[in-house]
Amino acid sequence: MKRTLAALCLLIPSTHLLAQAPEKPGAEVVLTKADAPTWSLAIHGGAGVIDKSMPEEKKKEYFAALERALNLGKGMLAKGASAVDTVEAVVKNLEDDPKFNAGKGAVFTHDGEHEMDAAIMDGSTLACGSVAGLKTVKNPISLARLVMEKSKHVFFAGPGAEKFADEMKVERAGPDYFFVQERYDQLQAELKDEAAGNVPKKFGTVGAVALDTHGHLAAATSTGGLTNKRFGRIGDVPVIGAGTYADDRSCAISSTGVGEQFIRHTVARTISARVQFAGLSLEEAAKQTIAELAPGDGGIIAVGKDGRIALVFNSAGMFRGAANSAGRFDVAIWE
Ligand code: ASP
Repeated sequence: MKRTLAALCLLIPSTHLLAQAPEKPGAEVVLTKADAPTWSLAIHGGAGVIDKSMPEEKKKEYFAALERALNLGKGMLAKGASAVDTVEAVVKNLEDDPKFNAGKGAVFTHDGEHEMDAAIMDGSTLACGSVAGLKTVKNPISLARLVMEKSKHVFFAGPGAEKFADEMKVERAGPDYFFVQERYDQLQAELKDEAAGNVPKKFGTVGAVALDTHGHLAAATSTGGLTNKRFGRIGDVPVIGAGTYADDRSCAISSTGVGEQFIRHTVARTISARVQFAGLSLEEAAKQTIAELAPGDGGIIAVGKDGRIALVFNSAGMFRGAANSAGRFDVAIWE
């Protein structure tokens, strides 16, 4: 199928970094020491068709939540915290917020349950940890980190992941904790939509990517997946190279959108490979890769090894934020 990209693909780098963008893909870009941020952070809270007519009050709540998470990460990175510690803490903060589809606010499955996926990756070592289909873990991202650091494996799913959570003694929560009325209503609406043959257009998921002052990159992503998803469905988020990827030689990426598409196109690893092997700028690599998806599929946040930030999506909106040591601090939902 031939797809054109587009104008829908949006890129919002910091102004002073934009001035450094290469003229053409592959052009060498040299940031002077004074230009290059010593730390950078980008976050997202999901992409999709986000209603522009949402009440002002709700809009403010979203902006405040994104700013809170960004401030948390900013404070950590500015004090020299590692990228891995920072992305875990930021994602954990977003998981605890019912407005986002992860942790507390995870969406309902077709069967009226919650099945959460998460992944974390350390770009300095390529160490990574993933969990999928969690039903009782309050903060899936922290369990993913334990998979990375306390097991010899990289991916636990379903009952095995729950068993690992038992062993690690992480905080658990029951269906009451995960019940959020708005999410329940979304499932009912989605069931009706499905019966009418409509394609879902709203996604969720939270993510963070960071470059720390030690020059290391990390990525973390956490999600309840897609509303109305079927039994055992696992999306892109915990699939290393699809929804989550970090490599100090190129960049750190966290995705949000139609997981099946992000898996098919190994979106995160493709962006990283285009930067590392094809010599594209982070912006170009991200734009090209998102252009290969169907319009509306979603987007990514990325931080390069030089601290550049790329926020690229082909959906109507993406909850997002970016900050760096050069004074950038902004959050946005639509263009
Ligand atoms: N990518 C996630 C998934 O497919 C959902 C999302 O980002 O909204 O599970």
